[in-house]
Amino acid sequence: MKNDNNDKIDRIGYEKKMVGKMITLYCRNNHGKGGEPCLSCGELLQYAMKRLESCRFQNDKPTCSKCPIHCYKPGKRESIKTVMRYSGRRMLLRNPIAIILHAIDGLRKKPDLSKYRTSKTSSG
Ligand SMILES: [Zn+2]
Repeated sequence: MKNDNNDKIDRIGYEKKMVGKMITLYCRNNHGKGGEPCLSCGELLQYAMKRLESCRFQNDKPTCSKCPIHCYKPGKRESIKTVMRYSGRRMLLRNPIAIILHAIDGLRKKPDLSKYRTSKTSSG
């Protein structure tokens, strides 16, 4: 009856790691800085971490592209899209595990938004 620890994946932790790698890789190749991301990429990184921490789905989180909630601000969304498109490809080439995880994600159903909706106190 207890499957608490077994199949629990720390999705948020995993995604944080991935986003961190993606932004760092993108910045290094496009903004020419070694090591730490530049100012604007660092800011984007902080923003992405915050969005993940406050993601209401947590372990049920779908991939961001499938998520019914677009929690990024328009400007930031454009930036992260660019980063993901750029780094996503490069990382998938090097990291077959990520491809598999992505494939699994593709099979997952979208979370049902209504389940997560906070109940209203009154109707009308
Ligand atoms: Zn940068």
